[in-house]
Amino acid sequence: MTETHAPLSYPPSAEFTAQANAAEGLYRDAEQDRLAFWAEQANRLSWATPFSQVLDWSEAPFAKWFADGKLNVAYNCVDRHVEAGNGDRVAIYWEGEQIGDSRSLTYRDLQDEVGKAANALTGLGLVAGDRVAIYLPMIPEAIVAMLACARLGLMHSVVFAGYTANALRARIDDAEAKLVITADGQFRRGKPAPLKNAVDDAVASADTVEHVLVVRRTGIEVDWKQGRDVWWHDVVDSASPEHDPEAFDAEHPLFLLYTSGTTGKPKGIVHTSGGYLTQASYTHHNIFDIKPETDVFWCTADIGWVTGHTYGVYGPLSNGVTEIFFEGTPDTPSQHRHFQIIEKYGATIYYTAPTMVRTFMKWGREFPDAHDLSSLRLLGTVGEPINPEAWRWYRTVIGGDSAPIVDTWWQTETGAAMISPLPGVAATKPGSAMAALPGISAKVVDDHGDELAPPSTDEGEHAAGYLVLDQPWPSMLRGIWGDPDRFRETYWSRYAEHGYYFAGDSARYDSDGAIWVMGRIDDVMNVSGHRISTAEVESALVGHAGVAEAAVVGATDDTTGQAICAFVVLTADHADTAGAEIIDELRAEVAKEISPIARPRELHVVPELPKTRSGKIMRRLLRDIVEKRELGDTSTLLDPGVFDAIRAAK
Ligand code: ATP
Ligand code: MG
Repeated sequence: MTETHAPLSYPPSAEFTAQANAAEGLYRDAEQDRLAFWAEQANRLSWATPFSQVLDWSEAPFAKWFADGKLNVAYNCVDRHVEAGNGDRVAIYWEGEQIGDSRSLTYRDLQDEVGKAANALTGLGLVAGDRVAIYLPMIPEAIVAMLACARLGLMHSVVFAGYTANALRARIDDAEAKLVITADGQFRRGKPAPLKNAVDDAVASADTVEHVLVVRRTGIEVDWKQGRDVWWHDVVDSASPEHDPEAFDAEHPLFLLYTSGTTGKPKGIVHTSGGYLTQASYTHHNIFDIKPETDVFWCTADIGWVTGHTYGVYGPLSNGVTEIFFEGTPDTPSQHRHFQIIEKYGATIYYTAPTMVRTFMKWGREFPDAHDLSSLRLLGTVGEPINPEAWRWYRTVIGGDSAPIVDTWWQTETGAAMISPLPGVAATKPGSAMAALPGISAKVVDDHGDELAPPSTDEGEHAAGYLVLDQPWPSMLRGIWGDPDRFRETYWSRYAEHGYYFAGDSARYDSDGAIWVMGRIDDVMNVSGHRISTAEVESALVGHAGVAEAAVVGATDDTTGQAICAFVVLTADHADTAGAEIIDELRAEVAKEISPIARPRELHVVPELPKTRSGKIMRRLLRDIVEKRELGDTSTLLDPGVFDAIRAAK
């Protein structure tokens, strides 16, 4: 992990620090009085009825934040900006999948659209507390639908539009949704593909679904069930834009969202209103240093993931900033697409996943280099540990060697970012999410719940521990939908006597006390008594010029307990070198970079890695392969065909 030629940490420039929203003092404020600090953050929002109590933790682990306050989430994301005189500010620059297909919506436009949609949903018989499944591509109607639900106190459950009818059915059934909002089809790589047909399949036997509301997006033909199906342009476009928002209790449920399924069967995570919006808004403002008058913020995540909820909808809109919302994929019509969009709209802040950065690296820097990316002043990542190699490339090639990078650790369950540098404060270290945010408390503990001590030096082997959150936080999940036992069991049983939330991730401190998230606990291998993280071995492999991506898992081994098995995808210019030579070279590289103990027992060159639809590597399925087991739950796998290719390559 030590590299002599590159700096070990990257402090922000003096100019960045001077203009930053968040300074060092924010940590002190939060430490002095955590609850008063959160009350202050909550008061960045507009409350119809002010709260008098900040936190009620008497029924732990079921938290109540700001419980006697009332607010309307959609009002906070839209109307109040119009009332403040910013109705003409662009809320959304929407970029369609096809070049030339774009739309901008000001905050006033958004207010009208949300008002119409809210009236239409009321017309369809929906009342506060009902659940609505949203199965839409990345079109403005998706955001409008979410906000209309929020405005009416309906709980949305957004389902990624790339999921199958089966995955959709499971989520509709689990939530007992009354309405499904979808589109006739969606554009995928330049072509229209059907979407509503999956809804027809999914709801055929769902007796809770009363209506299917359909946006005409592609014009492709659809089957129509009279009485059940309604067109968006019939009921929404004709509705009145006037709509008085009702204020709901802070603990009124806002949405239900299923986790990515990286570790197992997806869990239906419940979030509520006041606490969620408080932390979404606060973290967005401070981590991304938002200046609503001038910034153009782009979070590339699909609305089907929590990142798309918190930093694609609720965070940016609550802060009244202009954001980019992109329907397509980064390589359609060419690998220039993201960079063209940054250039076209003058994006100032760009937030994506490590897998995207590694993909850009694989394609080569000629694509970003062909564009003026000088508008970018801040970059972010989320979703997985980012290997230092990719981090540095991101900073140099995309960030013009100056933009700070915020590596944000959080989960569907945490609702908003928890561990992240503040960009004007931290000297960031590539691969580290650094420290818990002001107001948040995280610890790395051992098996007994005792906090690990930072090592005296960063040389040698690092002790890995378990990442826990030892204090409740406003946007914490309020449960797993319909399954309080699974909620307690999954997150609160491991350190029950300490009252810690166990995140399921392993982490370590470095000698400065910075936090390095190493991946999921299953992703730490035990080789002859040495704890080695998959992320560390992968990082060593990706450090080799010939390797585009790597996934590492531990397999049971008679002599060493676990043995390291690696799967690598080669870069385009090394694709022909798939012989024994590169395999030996890579194994030696890991031995040299980390330790001879970490030398992979097996290394396979494969055409692709199994990933979730949100782009995370599914190591649990690779473990099934190396241990020759049946594959576990594959419902959230991107490409089921990948395993034939991996088996063929083995
Ligand atoms: P499931 O819980 O169903 O297995 P998942 O954990 O992948 O799926 P998410 O809630 O989307 O579902 O992802 C949260 C996880 O992503 C974290 O627990 C962590 O493992 C990983 N993660 C997110 N951000 C970071 C980051 N900045 N650094 C390291 N890991 C991260
Ligand atoms: Mg998880």
